[in-house]
Amino acid sequence: GAEVKRAPGIDLSHHLSDLSKARQTSPLKGLQKYLGHPNLINLAGGLPHPDYFPYSRVSADALVPSSFATSRESSLSWLWNLFSGDKSTSLTVPRYPAKDGDINLAQALQYGLARGMPQIQDFIRRFTAEVYQPAYDNWATLINSGNTDGWCRAALTLCNPGEGIFAAEWTYPSAKATVIPLGVRMVPLPMDIQGIRSDKFREILATWDDKSRNMSRPHVLYTIPIGQNPTGGTMSAPRKQEIYNICVEFDIIIVEDDPYYFLQHGQYLPKASRGKSKEIQNDKWYSTLEPSYLAFDVQGRVIRLDSFSKVIAPGCRLGWFTCNPLFAERLERQGETSLQAPCGFSQALVTSLLLNWKDEGYTRWLRGLQAQYISRRDFFVDCLLDTFHFTPVTVADEKSLWDGGVIYQAFREKSGNRSPVLSFVPPTSGMFVWLKVHFETHPLYEFHGQEALETKLWLKLAESGVLFGPGVMFSASEPEDTTAINDGHMRVSFSNEEFDKMKTAVEIFKSTLDHFYDEKR
Ligand code: PMP
Ligand code: PLP
Repeated sequence: GAEVKRAPGIDLSHHLSDLSKARQTSPLKGLQKYLGHPNLINLAGGLPHPDYFPYSRVSADALVPSSFATSRESSLSWLWNLFSGDKSTSLTVPRYPAKDGDINLAQALQYGLARGMPQIQDFIRRFTAEVYQPAYDNWATLINSGNTDGWCRAALTLCNPGEGIFAAEWTYPSAKATVIPLGVRMVPLPMDIQGIRSDKFREILATWDDKSRNMSRPHVLYTIPIGQNPTGGTMSAPRKQEIYNICVEFDIIIVEDDPYYFLQHGQYLPKASRGKSKEIQNDKWYSTLEPSYLAFDVQGRVIRLDSFSKVIAPGCRLGWFTCNPLFAERLERQGETSLQAPCGFSQALVTSLLLNWKDEGYTRWLRGLQAQYISRRDFFVDCLLDTFHFTPVTVADEKSLWDGGVIYQAFREKSGNRSPVLSFVPPTSGMFVWLKVHFETHPLYEFHGQEALETKLWLKLAESGVLFGPGVMFSASEPEDTTAINDGHMRVSFSNEEFDKMKTAVEIFKSTLDHFYDEKR
């Protein structure tokens, strides 16, 4: 549809790092204005002739958009698979286009497309406008090689060595690994089930003291608002608005790393109370999803990172930035001297898939994926509830991630004492369940301490053939920070294994945990 007219963003150039400011405009940029000229004889670049590319055509068989059902019920039904599975569509990318505007290898495999092939640029721009609806006028999009590349470029563009970046106290380890060697530390923010707490964030900002913190107040927030990695939480629109307002007040740039946006599941309902899922029409579907930070971004202070990794395939290495034009220009300059452009094969195949499916088909595909992950979430949580004897418990503990919420808690009875062993809240988006293990009730807690027990349990599980993500890996705090809340956790993914294997894993986890709590030394 037509884009709504909005006001332009504000000048945020004071957020650029020294490194980013020092990046030169590409020496070839001056040549660019001549490139469109129809009779131009271009002898300026070091371009190989496309006749010498050894690929004369690339073709692929791809699935159709309706390959997966849009409801939980039919996605599990064998009938669906019988009638809808195994349909495919053929994609062909020739070396030279049959008509102007066709995707072709001569262009896709050539130099000169730091912003990506025009067809994928158009798709990204249109998709962003329709789905995320940025709240200012002059937003820009720029292709990249996925959110790992996106975050690395954003961090280098915004941060100088010695600075800090705010992040949720539990966060994606690779995001931390990106900034540590740059001499940039993460500053953990307390969270609840929705993610970063706005009240605590404001308090930390308002009372920031450079001396005692040993750094100036960070001006960047890294956040995973949907399918929060590792906690599986989903940030609602009101919380995003609160955090956005705080970022305006304290002049903070928000980097929204959002690869799980379309894997929003909604609340988990136990098997017995699960009704038939409601069928939603394609054109209404996007409005059922929690909005992006872009929808609140009247100033242009959000750098949104989108990735095709979780919705097409990670090996495509394709994603994009949505941000203000000044940041986009600096991010592009940075890309020119490292990535140049995402892989041409990948762009050609993903773009021809999207054009073959059309916008409508891509939406249908995303809805099918959403239903698949909902089935997986439901199945995995069902397994946990069937295997452990969980009781719903209301948490009233300021320090808990789940303060004020209802959790499932499993207890252990020992000589008349009842103590919690395991707690969790079913995830509402993404790929993970975040299990809290109550090591403080382990008989050897005083002796070993929490972190050693976590490692011990993790190793025992690994030796029993089940690999979880050890909780400590996801801490945004520095290892030497003694004030950090370091409850014991395991991050368990339900995205990738076969259903029967997930069930077996939960059973092994139960018996391993039972033995573990009986240990005397
Ligand atoms: N180094 C030199 C000396 C070059 O001439 C070129 C290509 N013009 C490059 C690097 C860029 O190489 P690539 O396409 O592998 O990034
Ligand atoms: N950001 C988060 C929060 C992730 O969980 C992941 C993948 O696990 C990534 C980024 C990596 O994304 P990409 O494949 O787009 O680099």
